[in-house]
Amino acid sequence: AVPLVVARSTAIAAGNGLLIRDRTAFEEARNIDAIIFDKTGTLTRGEFGITDTLVFDTTHSEEEIVAYAASIEAHSEHPIAQGIVRDSKQAWPVEKFRAIPGKGASGEVKGHEVKVVSPGYLRDQGIGMEDPRFEELSRQGKTVVFVLIDDRLAGAIALADIVREESREAIRHLRDMGIRCIMLTGDNRQVAEWVGREIGLDEVIAEVLPEEKAAKVREVQSRGLIVAMTGDGVNDAPALAQANVGIAIGAGTDVAIETADIILVRSSPADVVAIIELARATYRKMM
Ligand code: ADP
Ligand code: MG
Repeated sequence: AVPLVVARSTAIAAGNGLLIRDRTAFEEARNIDAIIFDKTGTLTRGEFGITDTLVFDTTHSEEEIVAYAASIEAHSEHPIAQGIVRDSKQAWPVEKFRAIPGKGASGEVKGHEVKVVSPGYLRDQGIGMEDPRFEELSRQGKTVVFVLIDDRLAGAIALADIVREESREAIRHLRDMGIRCIMLTGDNRQVAEWVGREIGLDEVIAEVLPEEKAAKVREVQSRGLIVAMTGDGVNDAPALAQANVGIAIGAGTDVAIETADIILVRSSPADVVAIIELARATYRKMM
């Protein structure tokens, strides 16, 4: 039988948009030492807009660089892809589209092999990128993706996401509760550190590939900490499963939601505070 206070708390939670799917995990939520947040779509809104376009191969215009990228990205569901498509005036047909998980996407456009990729992908391929504008844009917290046409660096596109207003307040609150706040992201280190400073996080783990996220959660657990993970994406599902408490943002993907112990319907980081406070109050009454 479910104790009455727990049943009542579960109902209160549901009424406030906090869906508890696993009651044991809810009980564990009062003991959490650290929370790991996914960046894009969780601490930020995941709504990217193009801020700058760099042209390296001047046979192309800025608009063409964006159009080549948008053609590829029209086939991707990544938030970066959606931002590029929205801000492009045009797009061309694509053949042989392929996602490169955690790194970008590729395909054939107008007879050319086109790739839209992360700085990490360039590094892996040994493609040199010395332009000081890249460093400067990253320091401003902008995510930069590179456009390769027939394996030559043709241009780059910088995009800015919006930090959720509730994030800063939620992090301050959690830290006051003695909980260590960590961000886990596939994005570039400088961008991640910029967001970390903006929001006031204790720790930032950047440039993590999708398949490495669960191992990073395990690493934090191995410090002797009870860990909650909050995320929204397909990539986040194994990490949510690995955490002691997996919390999915309601606006997230079905996979993340199916794996999570708790779902935050309103997609607000403030609700992470609410669920922990509710768990603490619920089980305190039972002691
Ligand atoms: P996050 O952990 O922030 O959710 P991801 O693991 O989804 O990030 O992606 C990590 C990085 O891979 C992005 O910051 C971007 O540089 C690159 N990337 C992934 N998918 C795409 C795409 N469709 N187009 C361009 N870049 C992409
Ligand atoms: Mg994500």
